[in-house]
Amino acid sequence: MNRIHIVSNRLPVSINVNDDQIELIPSVGGLATGMRSVYKAYKGKWIGWPGLPSDDIDQKLSGRIDQALEKEDCVSVHLSKKEIDLYYDGFSNRTIWPLFHYFAQYIDYDPELWETFVHVNQKFANKALETLEEGDTIWIHDYQLLLVPEMIKSKKPGVTVGFFLHIPFPSFEVFRILPWRKELIQGMLGADLIGFHTYDYQRHFFSSVRRLMGYDISFNRIQIEDRIIIVDAFPMGIDYDKFKNAAIGVIQKPLQEKSKLHRELEKYFLLSPDRKLILSIDRLDYSKGIPNRLQAFLKFLETYPEFVGKVTLIMLAVPSRGTVEHYINLKKEVDELVGKVNGQFGNINYTPVWYFYRSMPFENLIELYSSCDVCLVTPVRDGMNLVAKEYVASRTNRTGVIILSEMAGVAKEMGEALIINPNNIKEIADSIKQALTMPLDEQRERMIFLQDRIKRYDVFKWSSEFVKSLSKVEKIQNSMHAKRVNSIIMEKIRSDYQNSKLRAIFLDYDGTLTGFKKNPNDAKPNEELHQLLYQLEEDPRNVITIISGRDRASLETWFEGHKINLIVEHGVWSKKVDREWKMLSNATDTWKSSIQPILETFVDRTPGTFIEEKNYSLVWHFRKAEPEQADLRANELKDELTTMIANHNLEILEGNKVIEVKTGGINKGIAALQFLKNKDFDFVFAVGDDWTDEYMFKELPESAHTIKVGLKHTAAKYKVESVSAVRTFLADLIK
Ligand code: UDP
Repeated sequence: MNRIHIVSNRLPVSINVNDDQIELIPSVGGLATGMRSVYKAYKGKWIGWPGLPSDDIDQKLSGRIDQALEKEDCVSVHLSKKEIDLYYDGFSNRTIWPLFHYFAQYIDYDPELWETFVHVNQKFANKALETLEEGDTIWIHDYQLLLVPEMIKSKKPGVTVGFFLHIPFPSFEVFRILPWRKELIQGMLGADLIGFHTYDYQRHFFSSVRRLMGYDISFNRIQIEDRIIIVDAFPMGIDYDKFKNAAIGVIQKPLQEKSKLHRELEKYFLLSPDRKLILSIDRLDYSKGIPNRLQAFLKFLETYPEFVGKVTLIMLAVPSRGTVEHYINLKKEVDELVGKVNGQFGNINYTPVWYFYRSMPFENLIELYSSCDVCLVTPVRDGMNLVAKEYVASRTNRTGVIILSEMAGVAKEMGEALIINPNNIKEIADSIKQALTMPLDEQRERMIFLQDRIKRYDVFKWSSEFVKSLSKVEKIQNSMHAKRVNSIIMEKIRSDYQNSKLRAIFLDYDGTLTGFKKNPNDAKPNEELHQLLYQLEEDPRNVITIISGRDRASLETWFEGHKINLIVEHGVWSKKVDREWKMLSNATDTWKSSIQPILETFVDRTPGTFIEEKNYSLVWHFRKAEPEQADLRANELKDELTTMIANHNLEILEGNKVIEVKTGGINKGIAALQFLKNKDFDFVFAVGDDWTDEYMFKELPESAHTIKVGLKHTAAKYKVESVSAVRTFLADLIK
């Protein structure tokens, strides 16, 4: 694998300028740690904002900062105060953040924020493009840079682009609220690999892609004309050993070296051995459910008065986005609730809530993690929540209980926690009681499972899994492009064409010679196609056959006057030029009466779909239906039909937005071979776009030139990307 670069809003270092001296302070956060191991190992650069507004630093200093950063393989994107205000505090945190966390009422729809967001994303992309070479890989992080993948891919398609979203991806019903929803999806789809914390975010994303863009998705792949995008869940981990080792260090520290906080904590327990501590740590953000937590603690003390005086909630709220109105209001609400609990239940010797509105150094965090009996994590929405994982890693004696909101991504990995609904205050209160009275054996049993899992999938594993998938997707893209018709392949086919005496040319119709229409009857050939075919027919060595799944009527009418043979209904009927229709196989259709009613129930339940009846097949069309519902129903239908087809010797064909049930033993491959029989064709050519054409590609002789339209996996020798590329190819062939 070539170089891997990282792009994120912030560089993994902070800058201190003191008396003209520049000091770089490396960030110790989990993401920085995980990513450092990647970009250093793959000799890449980290592109991001250094954290100082460009208006605060003069030109000379700015150059020196860039040089200092360059030594750390960091490339800075300079942002002015106004840009930070509108792009970061603005669109990122006042529009995307509330939207993606289901706080629709807080969304700011100001177009100026959006315009700056586009502009700043372009700045990041431009910096990345200056750094990147074709063949490199780039991994872009988070919601501030949603547009960057497309901005890079459109300029350098040979770069493998990864994108990871660190926050939730909301359901389509919420996502659609945003005026710029399509632009955001398009931006993300510039990536070759898109990662989310959980499968739920992944399926919400798929739903938006299907509904807004109409792209086909199968399993975890999105198929766009000439590309495949892999989407997967990679739950982010922590640097487990760092927390574990720090916790061991804290416990072993001699008394005189212990921090003030640690001594306070120990004193608390000394007063009475049956005292307990509950811990809560988060940024003061409305997504974190801090008021719910305080209400639940209040309810707990009211419901279980035997714990009053014995249980304290240590609440660390780290100041965040303090200038935004909703955060100011939240702070007020939290202050009041803390006052209420402490006022109602506190006394000289007992403070129910110890409230810290600040951040704490790492060592203090470890002291809290290792001293508190219960960790209370109640976000109303949270992409992952690392605090829960850090608590687990710091529990060296394997005791402790986590109460965890089902709305946090981490809940998917922590089945052994006490899972609660953050809006169910009574449930949280009861869970606090359950946690505080849980026998030690049970605590250990749960904690051992949690620790094993969180340790195994740590931040290094997380990043290496993502990198592995990037390399996999790079290989897929390369193999997709390998078969593409290029000038060398074109020359070879043309030379074989020119040197041949009798040519069999099989052309599929829909999706090959012409594009799909919502109504199949609207897909008649246009003048350009007629002219192209007339030119092809002029050469008497060419025996041209349109081979299609359609019924007889439309093709016969549309190609009247052409010197073209027709094979229709996937090979049931054929008609040579100026001859009558002939049945190619002795098929039966007695099965129709049992299958038709099944299809009808699907038409009734799925608006916009209809049944087409052909001689030896029934087709359920769902192109006009609401895509997501139709896909679901299509899977359901296939499932129902599976049991029927064996009994009746039927086949199910999945075409482009159609499911066709047909008599078995008939297909385009067998029909094409029958056509070749007893003739000395020395040039055989076939082109088609879907599943049903694969029979042709497989059955035709090895020497045949077979071309797939679209870049999906195929048995054809070559690929072209679109209908217009087919037309260009045919025009070039006869030049
Ligand atoms: N944290 C910190 N200082 C503090 C309190 C918390 O550095 O005073 C860290 C904590 O260790 C954790 C992170 O902040 O790694 C919070 O991450 P989380 O995923 O829980 O929430 P986020 O703030 O990213 O939404």
